[in-house]
Order: sequence, then C-alpha cells, then structure tokens
Amino acid sequence: MAGPRVGDGVGDGRAAVINASCPVMPRKVISGPVRADLRRQFRGVQVGFCCEDCVESWDGLSDAEREGKLQKVLRQGEKLPAAGMGNQDGPMR
Ligand SMILES: [Zn+2]
Repeated sequence: MAGPRVGDGVGDGRAAVINASCPVMPRKVISGPVRADLRRQFRGVQVGFCCEDCVESWDGLSDAEREGKLQKVLRQGEKLPAAGMGNQDGPMR
C-alpha cells in the first residue's frame, strides 16, 4: 500500500478543532486541522489558535473568559460541552 504522504497536513499531529476562528483574535480564521502546538484542550474538546501568542494569552485566561471567547467562534453546529460534564477524572454516570 502507499506509504505516508508528506505535506498534506495529515499524520503530522494535526487535529480538527471545534472553533472556526481564533478565540483570542476572532478575525483570524482557523481552516482545517491544527498543529498540536497551536491547540489546547478545553472541556474535552480541541480548540485551535492562529499563532503561539494566542495560545499564551489563552493560557492566562480564566475558564469563564475562555468560554465567553470560545462561544463566539464555534463552528456552525458545534456546541461547547457544559462545565463539569464528564471531562474530569470522576466516573461517568
Ligand atoms: Zn494569534
């Protein structure tokens, strides 16, 4: 079978994210899968950023601030899981 293809953005740690543009700089569109170093997990979902500065800003926000920013840039049809909805280490019910 064919070996791994280089340069198509798949297989180099990229993953789809829940947001359509950067939560920190909403004018920056996030298109397609995002590199691991430009992603953060929030409530069990992957959030993508346009650059490392935005990841750093995100890291400095409170969860409430993160939610507010993220809600504005979610992809159509995506929903942010509610706080405390089984993304902790506790047992699922
Ligand atoms: Zn940025």
